[in-house]
Amino acid sequence: MEVFKTIKDLKARLNDLRTSGKTIGFTPTMGALHLGHISLVERSNKENDISVVSIFVNPTQFNNKEDLEKYPRNLEADFDLLKKNNCDIVFAPEVIEMYPQEDTRVFELGKVTEVMEGKFRPGHFNGVCQVVSHLFEIVEADRAYFGQKDYQQIAVIRAMKDKYMPNLKTQIISCPIKREESGLALSSRNMRLSDKEKQSALLISKCLFEAKNIYDKGASLNEIIDFINNYIKQDSTLEMEYVEIADKDTLETIKEQKFDNAVICITVYCNKVRLIDNILL
Ligand code: AMP
Repeated sequence: MEVFKTIKDLKARLNDLRTSGKTIGFTPTMGALHLGHISLVERSNKENDISVVSIFVNPTQFNNKEDLEKYPRNLEADFDLLKKNNCDIVFAPEVIEMYPQEDTRVFELGKVTEVMEGKFRPGHFNGVCQVVSHLFEIVEADRAYFGQKDYQQIAVIRAMKDKYMPNLKTQIISCPIKREESGLALSSRNMRLSDKEKQSALLISKCLFEAKNIYDKGASLNEIIDFINNYIKQDSTLEMEYVEIADKDTLETIKEQKFDNAVICITVYCNKVRLIDNILL
């Protein structure tokens, strides 16, 4: 496995590989890697000759300074895990390499960036678009892999690519959420949970699975939302930030009581740790 710290060196290497006919799969990450990330790398390995993973905790997508400072970082363990899982190339730049000057670009993508995560984390998606567009230009991959764990993020990246990078040949591939056996969605933030908090966090996926059950049995929108709110209220460690039932493509909030083609997106604080999850209906 090769590790690159500079854009110039990475581009030169990828150019060589491309010239010799290799296809490139790319998985952008912020490190503190777990088996959720690895599931994306495995898919990339299957579909491409070369798998590239970037590890970069992107400051421009954090609207909360404490969240950025507390974001887990563990490069050596990340390299080990990637090596074991047949990643070919890691790109792990410093902030100054990615942003020699402040990135002032503003991505105007409308509704998809304004609801849910966009509403509660102002500027978050603009930062995501800044870093992902930059990485897309550097890597020029055939395919880029993203997890449905960040459901809205995939919709934003597709919209960003359509509007701002129409000539980019990179295909965006959406991959299923990887969960612990308990149902808890794997997340780098789970490392910050105590054992007791982890028990509480389990209620998040449990309530989504139950919500899908009652949806399948014919529950209305209000019944599902009430059910989820009450479920989360059971545990005083948990505090709901939002729960939304949204159109699975546009992510606009659904208002009809009977609906289909929807995703339930939920964000819950488990004490100080912000956890997100979702389920397709
Ligand atoms: P992050 O390092 O959190 O920015 O995540 C990097 C990529 O891994 C994103 O596309 C995430 O959606 C994806 N990812 C994170 N957790 C999971 C998971 N549990 N299952 C599948 N993909 C995931």
